[in-house]
Amino acid sequence: MIDSAKNRADMRIIVVGAGMSGLLAGIELQKAGYTNFVIYEKADKVAGTWRENRYPGLTCDIPSHAYTYSFAPNPDWTQRYPPGPEIFAYFARVTEEFGLNERIVFNKEVTSAVFEDGGWTVGTADGASERADAMIVATGILHHPNIPTFEGQDSFKGPIFHSARWDESVELDGKRIGVIGSGSTGVQIVSALADRASKLVHFQRTPQWITPGQNPQFTEEQRAAFRANPQLMIDLHDSPELKEGLRMFTRAVTDVNSPEMAAVEAFTRMNLENNVQDPVLREKLRPNYRAACKRMIISMDYYEKVQLPAVEVVREKIDRFEANGIRTADGEFHELDIIVLATGFKASSFMRPMNVVGRDGVELNKLWDKRPSAYLAVSIPDFPNFFMLNGPSAPFGNLSSIAVAEYQMMLVMKLLEVISSGNARQISVSREAMATYNSELIAATKGTVWASGCSSWYLDPDGVPTIWPYTLERFMEETSEPKLDAFERA
Ligand code: NAP
Repeated sequence: MIDSAKNRADMRIIVVGAGMSGLLAGIELQKAGYTNFVIYEKADKVAGTWRENRYPGLTCDIPSHAYTYSFAPNPDWTQRYPPGPEIFAYFARVTEEFGLNERIVFNKEVTSAVFEDGGWTVGTADGASERADAMIVATGILHHPNIPTFEGQDSFKGPIFHSARWDESVELDGKRIGVIGSGSTGVQIVSALADRASKLVHFQRTPQWITPGQNPQFTEEQRAAFRANPQLMIDLHDSPELKEGLRMFTRAVTDVNSPEMAAVEAFTRMNLENNVQDPVLREKLRPNYRAACKRMIISMDYYEKVQLPAVEVVREKIDRFEANGIRTADGEFHELDIIVLATGFKASSFMRPMNVVGRDGVELNKLWDKRPSAYLAVSIPDFPNFFMLNGPSAPFGNLSSIAVAEYQMMLVMKLLEVISSGNARQISVSREAMATYNSELIAATKGTVWASGCSSWYLDPDGVPTIWPYTLERFMEETSEPKLDAFERA
């Protein structure tokens, strides 16, 4: 007779990464009785992106009560869009509350995973190697900084750092600061430093569409009410208005010709027209592509801050760095003390450079040469019992990646259950199901706004979006009620 409880307790599972989704994996495994798991974390703290990003102005643009595990509401959020340090503290607290600290091995970087003899041989940077029955790879998407090299970069005398490698020892007040990059990060940094720098130059190769938002504080009374009645927090992020707003935005981005898209564009355009007074600056800030083609930026105050006398927007191409600043292609010289590279991330790397080799020597690097892909962002053919969280083509547009990871984790738990209940020893999506899934997904991306003619981190090298092109409801359905016949068992 099969003892699935014993199988669950025996199954050795290695979770890679103790960020938002790795912690989630740990909590769900623990709840279900998979007690023989470990979480390997390359750094010395939890919270992934919220540990690495510490730049001034760091805020999540997803409402705080939606950027929360469904099972761990947080009555202590101080405002609608939570600041980075609060989010870091939230994940640290959840880790503690769910007893995960003893499950995490810090400073342990997984460098290889090879499927052989029916299981995974997992190698780590310290030279150790061990066997696992299953792996949950929760290494995140935006964690390999894109650090361009500009001519003369080494000649600049002041500090230069990437937004995700913020040098906290550098004094910012009263300094002349250059910020390169106009994504969510660059916009947040410029808004935060505009009042502090003596001069702030925002170098924008491509301007971005910005939608306004409000960031009210939660009062002490509200927080006390949340503590007394947690349902109030659930009601807040499950409110019909928020749900309808999300549905509308999803319809807009997945159908570029929809009336919802037209409404998003009109709203975003109005923000620019109404809030930037100087017509020259307004044109500098006007993108020449569709709104939301790049990830929509939500900002309460960027347009206000960028009109301060100390702030300048520069659209000219950067020609080179010199000892005391940046020279642009028009010959202008911008004197600077500090340069910040808010130049984004290599989003298609996922768990790489980890060397992952599946059944019969199939190398992930080769398989993903043209385009990273995984069934429902979780499973890869020929990589048995190897599950990703927030893998390629997850719905990571302007949505809560926590909610998305929770749905993916439901799928992972169902697949693990196939193994622990003795119905198979290995499971992965079949090549046929993956091929159909991929071709349908690629076809569906054609009608989305992400494919409407801009460059962004959503695109593969051929310009095809690697993002879920359907509704969020469809993702929820397919992950919570998976078609198990799409999976191959051995
Ligand atoms: P990003 O959106 O990829 O933006 C990178 C910026 O750097 C772009 O403006 C890009 O210009 C510019 N850039 C890159 N290489 C350059 C070069 N060689 N010369 C000049 N400019 C260059 O990166 P990000 O702002 O870090 O944001 C990444 C993602 O992180 C966001 O989309 C979002 O998902 C997430 N994020 C979220 C929040 C939040 O509140 N939830 C906050 C920050 C970040 P081009 O557009 O011309 O390529």
